[in-house]
Amino acid sequence: AIDIQGLVKHYGDNEVLKGIDLTVNAGEVVCVIGPSGSGKSTLLRSVNMLEEPTGGKIVIEGIDITDPDIDIDRVRARIGMVFQSFNLFPHMSVLGNLTIAQRQVKKRGKAEAEKVAKEMLERVGMGHKADAYPSHLSGGQQQRVAIARSLCMNPDMMLFDEPTSALDPELVGEVLQVMRTLADEGMTMMVVTHEMGFAREVGSRLIFMDGGHILEEGDPREVLANPQHQRTKDFLARVL
Ligand code: ATP
Ligand code: MG
Repeated sequence: AIDIQGLVKHYGDNEVLKGIDLTVNAGEVVCVIGPSGSGKSTLLRSVNMLEEPTGGKIVIEGIDITDPDIDIDRVRARIGMVFQSFNLFPHMSVLGNLTIAQRQVKKRGKAEAEKVAKEMLERVGMGHKADAYPSHLSGGQQQRVAIARSLCMNPDMMLFDEPTSALDPELVGEVLQVMRTLADEGMTMMVVTHEMGFAREVGSRLIFMDGGHILEEGDPREVLANPQHQRTKDFLARVL
């Protein structure tokens, strides 16, 4: 489980996260929505310490990752993160992209790393593209490869920051389908998304962030059908 307690983040005198309390239990899919600038990415990036919190605690499987004495690389290896931009290495084949971190971080040998990579490519429906280069793949294919790359590290949880926002509309579905399958298999996930259909059908919880706070949270169907706060209503009226 991820246990976020009183998380505060400042950039200079700009307070971007104003005390976030959130627990994500194993197997839960927590979807995060909210206006631009509300702190969604900062929250996600804090969970694997791409941002250092100004205050509060983040406890992952009992380990306080804000403790300066812990080995953050070990914690980070257990948390996969997928961004809007796919961030694949352009000069490496798909297989190369999927094996490099396994070899460097997990210290796996070539054969084992390639075996894991091919297994994960099959999971995202990209088994036939192991030797392709990223520039020869569609955006949806590149994003599925990026997901497979995270899975190669055997993460306990996956963080997704608007994984489909950069995609042409006809490519969104194939990426959401992969995420849905992961969720069905029990992966713990936090997903920042504008895909309300995904949030409604796959999310176990929906969080509405506004101005660095969690303004509202609950069952996705409930929040979407019956938002309690005016700001949630206004936001949903704009995006739905
Ligand atoms: P969007 O929907 O546009 O992605 P968001 O909810 O993800 O927005 P964040 O990216 O978390 O919002 O940003 C929250 C606030 O923090 C914004 O005001 C942003 O300008 C500020 N911010 C984010 N990153 C930095 C940074 N590295 N340095 C300074 N300010 C930052
Ligand atoms: Mg963002």
